[in-house]
Amino acid sequence: MKNVGLGLLLGVLLLPLLSCRSGGGMPEAGGSGKSAVPARGSAMSEKRKIVKSDEEWRTILTPEQYRVLREKGTERPFTGRYWDTTDPGTYICAACGQVLFTSETKFDAGCGWPSFTAPADPIAIDEETDRSHFMVRTEVLCGRCGGHLGHVFDDGPAPTGLRYCINSASIELEPEHEKPDSAE
Ligand code: FE
Repeated sequence: MKNVGLGLLLGVLLLPLLSCRSGGGMPEAGGSGKSAVPARGSAMSEKRKIVKSDEEWRTILTPEQYRVLREKGTERPFTGRYWDTTDPGTYICAACGQVLFTSETKFDAGCGWPSFTAPADPIAIDEETDRSHFMVRTEVLCGRCGGHLGHVFDDGPAPTGLRYCINSASIELEPEHEKPDSAE
């Protein structure tokens, strides 16, 4: 019980320093009476959930992808495929193929991980509070398969002020010229 109490105490003490959600952000929110902050990554994605067993994921993913996506691992900075990529295109979930981010919101945060100011669509991702490693952070997960993507911090550039810090192992870049054309 002491350890639990200590953990809670540390969490409370660290919250103001490391929390990504409190305070400002979302300057573009509209003033329409309801909450000014749109619910990002909410239950709206429930109906699209993909559920697979660990065994199934192991056959689909590489060992590194499995470690990051399914075991919430973190790749070493400056080692992933996309930390310094500037190619135009769409970043999809490496596990389920859902569109997660686009190159238009990618920026060089200098941290060694691919960083984005916003998801391609708010419902493409889920967010959860992560209290591991004596920190309180906001974890970012794929809204469809629940795979761990990284974390979001509130020290990003305009227009959102957010920095989605994402593991390269969790995403795949579909170059712009390979985007499927609409047949209609
Ligand atoms: Fe996914």
